[in-house]
Amino acid sequence: MESNEKWGFNTQCLHGYENNSANESHVLPIYPSSSFVFESLEDSVDVFTGQKTGHVYSRYGNPTVEAVASKIAALEGYGASGDYWGLLTSSGMSAIYVVLRTLLKPGDALLCPHQLYGGTTELLQKVFQPMGVTLIQTDFSQPEQIESQLEAVGNIRVLYLETPSNPTLQCFDLRSIASLAARYGVKTVVDNTFPTPFHQQPLTLGADYVIHSTTKYLNGHGNGIAGVLVGKMGNEERYPFWQNVKLMGVNCSPFEAWLVYNGLKTLALRMRQHSDNALQLATFLESHPLVEKVHYPGLHGHEGHLVATRQMKHGFGGMLSFTIQGGTGQHAALCMNSLQLATQAPTLGDVDTLVMHPFTSSHLKVSHEQKLIEGVTENLIRVSVGIEDINDLITDFDQALSMSHGVKQSS
Ligand SMILES: *Cc1c(COP(=O)(O)O)cnc(C)c1O
Repeated sequence: MESNEKWGFNTQCLHGYENNSANESHVLPIYPSSSFVFESLEDSVDVFTGQKTGHVYSRYGNPTVEAVASKIAALEGYGASGDYWGLLTSSGMSAIYVVLRTLLKPGDALLCPHQLYGGTTELLQKVFQPMGVTLIQTDFSQPEQIESQLEAVGNIRVLYLETPSNPTLQCFDLRSIASLAARYGVKTVVDNTFPTPFHQQPLTLGADYVIHSTTKYLNGHGNGIAGVLVGKMGNEERYPFWQNVKLMGVNCSPFEAWLVYNGLKTLALRMRQHSDNALQLATFLESHPLVEKVHYPGLHGHEGHLVATRQMKHGFGGMLSFTIQGGTGQHAALCMNSLQLATQAPTLGDVDTLVMHPFTSSHLKVSHEQKLIEGVTENLIRVSVGIEDINDLITDFDQALSMSHGVKQSS
């Protein structure tokens, strides 16, 4: 496969799926078919034995699903050369499960930072630990701490991380972490859901595998659940991942894939707007007297700013979080309940602005100590900044902040 650089990233989002449909439809057709027809028994044998490429059964592979997977793979490998390959799954969680189940066996250990998506932490603790996988957490902002774990624990097989992380947007140095892991023969897996390949391409920075909850920005419209696994790998390396999706039955449905296909067309446009809006909202919040602290990698004062500048491009994404002065959950609740444009919903990456209270939702079951390490306090609000007109958003947060402290609006 040649490098995709002959096109701009935007063009890559829009074009580049092979139309192999008989009826020449302009957009990718949905193939809602559980199975595919063989011309003869000989033909069937050839396809089943792999001597001929073709579709058999939609749990094994489906033309709609594969077209979308290869588009995402091309975006993750954009500008680089090599064989990038993607596999769509039924959800972000199943993408994580498949990659880790393929790479880990009982007796192995996984090293990760304290800050992870809540579902990932639960998956590791409730599914992988009972299976005999050891879970080790350390501070990923300190590569020497990662190295001392790799030194001390011989059976670490996978380093797993998200950057920027949820919900305080900590950033970890992908290049040095991946090269450190490689020196120890350890695979690096990155959840790239927050930045998307528009802002960050972990595979081109040395990571081995990327997963996404395509439910978020890649779909972008909040109308479907799916996931994807991408890696730079040839046919032989792909096989165990594909086989696990097939045997676990966590394939993506063609309809869900098609929704992601529609969303991908505007990925670059949306991300640019999400990111511009987030920077402006973060700057506004930072200067607001009722805001204690803003977490956004685009702010110079953010602890991950330098790392983010080195490994992200076109901005810093659409996610931010902030704490309200006063430190109580009461103030946070008043602020959130007073927002008129921003909606309270436990997801992110939709085109409209969403807010969430991590303390009582995503981190509800997380221990007190863990919440402290992660900076998840009662007064923390997470914002998935949408693509609305920024002045409307700023006005909305301004009036809600006033309401949170019982301040009457002056204008
Ligand atoms: C939502 C999310 C997931 C899980 O994805 P689903 O599509 O809900 O299964 C994993 N990682 C991150 C960062 C997420 O935001």
